[in-house]
Amino acid sequence: MKPIDFRSDTVTKPTPAMRRAMADAEVGDDVYGEDPMVNRLQERVAERLGLEAAIFVPSGTQANQIAMGLHCRPSDEVITEVGSHIVQYEGGALSALWGIQPQGLPGERGLLTAAQVAEAVRGENIHAPRSKLLSLENTHNRGGGTVWPLERFQSVVEAARKAGLAVHLDGARLFNAQMATGTPASAWAKLTDTTSVCFSKGLGAPVGSALAGSAALIREAQRLRKRLGGGMRQAGILAAAALHALEHHVDRLAEDHANARRLAAGLAELQGVKVEPARVETNILLVEFTRPASEMVSRLATLGVLLNATGTHTARLVCHLDVSASDIDEALTRIRKALES
Ligand SMILES: *Cc1c(COP(=O)(O)O)cnc(C)c1O
Repeated sequence: MKPIDFRSDTVTKPTPAMRRAMADAEVGDDVYGEDPMVNRLQERVAERLGLEAAIFVPSGTQANQIAMGLHCRPSDEVITEVGSHIVQYEGGALSALWGIQPQGLPGERGLLTAAQVAEAVRGENIHAPRSKLLSLENTHNRGGGTVWPLERFQSVVEAARKAGLAVHLDGARLFNAQMATGTPASAWAKLTDTTSVCFSKGLGAPVGSALAGSAALIREAQRLRKRLGGGMRQAGILAAAALHALEHHVDRLAEDHANARRLAAGLAELQGVKVEPARVETNILLVEFTRPASEMVSRLATLGVLLNATGTHTARLVCHLDVSASDIDEALTRIRKALES
């Protein structure tokens, strides 16, 4: 029985064509700036995001944390949504690495309003940390793969600018937002000072993320990457996978979105699980089981369906490159069996 793995879009394996691109990569020492594939990737990412420059890094966490270090000094504050990746899933890096304090605002499936941001910014006051940065996430993971409508994003960024804040976008799944809306990734990114993107999520590369911004910020980012131990040598082997992903795996994200909708529609027919198909915007699907989520996760694992619990009764399913439309139908059969037994 082939397991169908909905735990994350990080579980994808490189395709044979991607492995060939990696094997054929021309390489050099990237710490000296001499790796042609890394240089090409950085240029392509900057172009796609409408920003001046970009830097290749090992992980999305490192891309985000370099941005935090660029924009804030110890005791400064980053304003963000309370469920954001930088707060929930980066090992306490904000405080451990930079001495930054987060102010997490409650979002609407991960999205904030301009009024919320304007109200959260601290005035000049010796009691308060200095608000320096607004950090947003598109698509929003904990929100359920939510896309930021461009106008709402613009208004929130404008509120931050008015208060003198820098803006970072965690765009781990920004290309999912692009494919879901037809709006180019650059439309969001060019409104920001820095934007990160991941190649190892739905794009299917084994390793790697990038941070884009102005040439001056990215020069400083090279120092912070080195400090964090992220200076890699013949990294072109990895950059080749990311380049291949950018060329061949962006448009196909639409299939993952269609599969997530197909899965939601199928689950909506079943007893013992609640879903809101209308809320499935991209490749992430949040569900609520009548039975405890931990019980459903282990019951489903024995039937070859893998997913992650997110709460006592809630779980997340993520569609990706290694889940096909027929896998969705097979998964629905297995899930029905688990719910009925
Ligand atoms: C996965 C992810 C990241 C980066 O994660 P890494 O595992 O460090 O590459 C950042 N932000 C969001 C929203 C993510 O989903």
